[in-house]
Amino acid sequence: MADRTTEPISVPALDLKAQYRTIRDEIDQVVRAVVESQYFILGPEVAGLEAEIAAYGGSKFGVGCASGSDALLLPLLALEVGPGDEVVTTPYSFFATAGSIWRTGARPVFVDIDPSTFNIDAKQLEAAITPRTRVVIPVHLYGQTADMTPIMEVARRHGLVVLEDAAQSIGAAYQGRRAGVLGDVAAFSFYPSKNLGGFGDAGMITTDDEALAKRMARLRVHGMEPKYYHHEVGFNSRLDALQAAVLRVKLRHLDAWTAARRRVADNYRALLSRAGLSEIVGLPVESPGCFHVYNQFTIRVPAEVRDPLRAHLTAKRVGTEIYYPIPLHLQDCFRALGHRPGDFPHSEAAAKETLALPIYPELTDSAQEYVAARIAEFVDEHARGSRLGERAA
Ligand SMILES: *Cc1c(COP(=O)(O)O)cnc(C)c1O
Repeated sequence: MADRTTEPISVPALDLKAQYRTIRDEIDQVVRAVVESQYFILGPEVAGLEAEIAAYGGSKFGVGCASGSDALLLPLLALEVGPGDEVVTTPYSFFATAGSIWRTGARPVFVDIDPSTFNIDAKQLEAAITPRTRVVIPVHLYGQTADMTPIMEVARRHGLVVLEDAAQSIGAAYQGRRAGVLGDVAAFSFYPSKNLGGFGDAGMITTDDEALAKRMARLRVHGMEPKYYHHEVGFNSRLDALQAAVLRVKLRHLDAWTAARRRVADNYRALLSRAGLSEIVGLPVESPGCFHVYNQFTIRVPAEVRDPLRAHLTAKRVGTEIYYPIPLHLQDCFRALGHRPGDFPHSEAAAKETLALPIYPELTDSAQEYVAARIAEFVDEHARGSRLGERAA
């Protein structure tokens, strides 16, 4: 029998075709129905998805929009956040988290991460609050919620709105409650690589606040209500019926896919531990009370070996990704904020040390064995003399 750990296979970072193959008939049927209806924008499919996503998390209202980025921007606009205001968030996230704040004219104020979870450090939140602070945006990074109890406690004490960036964490839970109901309003993304991904861009906002939901629903159609009467200037962030139809099919599979992602994560832990790597390779930490949905399985290695490890895996046809190489406070477009390297040391270290391994529900055991064996071989052959090698010795 072939040794499965050396078999020359390729393992992409993400394989969307594998998922499509499992639901092709269901998808093709609903896509055909939308095409037959020729009803493409908002409408009954979008209203159906809004109700189902709201019910899935336990929210009263869902407002569909064009992307996860808009799902962050629309609540800020509806809350009239703008110039002179401050919004507190993490510097270790996808760009849109801070970009949405900037787009309103408000100032993004960063709070460093807890290095064990990569999420905003709730203990440092209060020190960042000023009389100008209006909103806090905790990000539930990689599939695990931020530490919401202390965040909500600080926010309530200061009268701040909490907007969850749940783009990577649909189905994740904190103390038994799902992402989306842990703050006042939440943003979800259905970008294809998210745990619930569309066939293009799409997003959703959930909230229990009816007035806020109505205002966001109006802002996404140029502030129009009824047709051609404009009360305020919004923009076009409508959601397509085709995306909604696809997402409604996929939502029925989401819990099974989440369970499969968690099995993949468990299997990585077992394989990397068995290979003697758990001392050298930092594994994702599941915080007590958190149900992690593993949008990413992110390992951590010393900065000087991260890029060589990635190059080794690329050469062995294992796809990886770095989420994210430059923390937001050091992005060129935010230079006016005046940040310097060293301002948020945990975020800066994470940006140099993390590497996301392939993870998706259909990832096979043998593919995972191949990935773990290639990491082990890198540690054996290429990292001698480095800090990684010393730690392995
Ligand atoms: C994907 C993502 C977004 C933006 O979503 P899009 O649908 O790509 O616009 C925002 N925040 C985080 C943390 C994300 O991962």
